[in-house]
Amino acid sequence: MRKHVEQRIFNPIVERMSRSELEALRWRRLRSTLERTYAASPFYRKRMQRAGVTPDDIRTPEDFRNRVPMVDKLDVLADQREHPPLGSAIAVPDALLEYCFLTSGTSGKGQEVHAYTGADVTESLTSWASSLHWAGVMPGDVAYHMVPIGVTAGPVTLLASFQRYGLRTFAVGNMEGEARLEMMRRFPPNFFSTGPVYLRRLTTICREMGIDPRRDFPALKAIKLGSFGFDVPWAREMEAFWGAKLIDTYASTQCGGGIASTCEHGTYLADGRRGMMHFPEHKVWAEVLNPQTGEPAREDEEGEVILTAFGREAMPILRFRTGDKVVFKSHRQCACGRPFDGIEAGTVSRYDTMLKIRGMNLWPEAVDAIVLAHPEIDEYNGRLGVADNGREVARVLVEFKATASSSAAHRAHVLEQLRSQIKECTGVGMEVCEAASGEVERFAYKEKRWKDQRREQL
Ligand SMILES: [Zn+2]
Repeated sequence: MRKHVEQRIFNPIVERMSRSELEALRWRRLRSTLERTYAASPFYRKRMQRAGVTPDDIRTPEDFRNRVPMVDKLDVLADQREHPPLGSAIAVPDALLEYCFLTSGTSGKGQEVHAYTGADVTESLTSWASSLHWAGVMPGDVAYHMVPIGVTAGPVTLLASFQRYGLRTFAVGNMEGEARLEMMRRFPPNFFSTGPVYLRRLTTICREMGIDPRRDFPALKAIKLGSFGFDVPWAREMEAFWGAKLIDTYASTQCGGGIASTCEHGTYLADGRRGMMHFPEHKVWAEVLNPQTGEPAREDEEGEVILTAFGREAMPILRFRTGDKVVFKSHRQCACGRPFDGIEAGTVSRYDTMLKIRGMNLWPEAVDAIVLAHPEIDEYNGRLGVADNGREVARVLVEFKATASSSAAHRAHVLEQLRSQIKECTGVGMEVCEAASGEVERFAYKEKRWKDQRREQL
């Protein structure tokens, strides 16, 4: 299956550049992004002035890394509180703003607002085009978008990107699995987009319904994953079952969409090593830095992704700390010959406590605040897992204080109350149950309160 890999070049000018040509191009783009941002965005200008640096001082990539301050989500939130509603990073007159949205994660840290001009929207909607093309997905293909469309920006822009690329897209995210597969029998897919946990569930449902994708969906070419880790044996099993190649992808709401993707060589190599996702380095300046030393991660080393987007008009992004923990891979590690560096496929995780569940960003602190505020609750543990039917489950196991009321009806009422408060505050439905005495573990570090067992249960 992997003996011959057909190369599919989307943008010949940049994809066939030498590394040094690409570096010259991106340095020019970084310089002009820096100059424009400094001139037009009060938020970034102030931060650079505070750091005692102007664009003229930045003469090398090392200057950029060592002298231009990084920003994180909390900086953006603080600025937006101080200068409501959009903050002072906006670099165009209000009349040019065409689109605004909030980041996902209703609580725990707060939601940033992101604003776009028409050109930003176009850029964002075309950010997945090379990834689709590399996977052999072509305009006119039938696509299924499996992620529920809700309040967050990601699923909506992904759907619009597929449509913009010319895919005949069925948005089935709000349907039950069986109904989705019935649709797929009727309109056979060339491509679909989901997460690893849901792909496992869909596999289970296929087996229950007697669907063999190799027989029933013979034109299926690729399945797009993202934002969740997986192991190579699992990827092999899924590709064998579905008869299609897995694409792993990495996105950033702050930078407007697709940031990295595997190429036609996929998520793992013939010898079982993991593949890589390439950054479109003509569009973003992606740094992978060791958070302890601030130095660039070397080949196969872990680091945090820091993003600078070229040419964003409404809200420039300069050295944004994503909090995403990745493994750096240079372009030399991929057989495709593209000059783009990138990150390992299947291993993106977080430096902080944030968990992603059913497409929502969940901050455990938000659950802490609800559960531990209850006067009768002593402690709790959170568990994320995958049920036997493949459903993603979040379970909150609470221990009542010894002094709490002993009436079973009263306790059931408290659990129900917590369930609805958690759903309302985080947007994620959870099972809330009472633990037997001694069942809830206590930890010196509160981050340990939550255990994510989904990957081993895939
Ligand atoms: Zn490649």
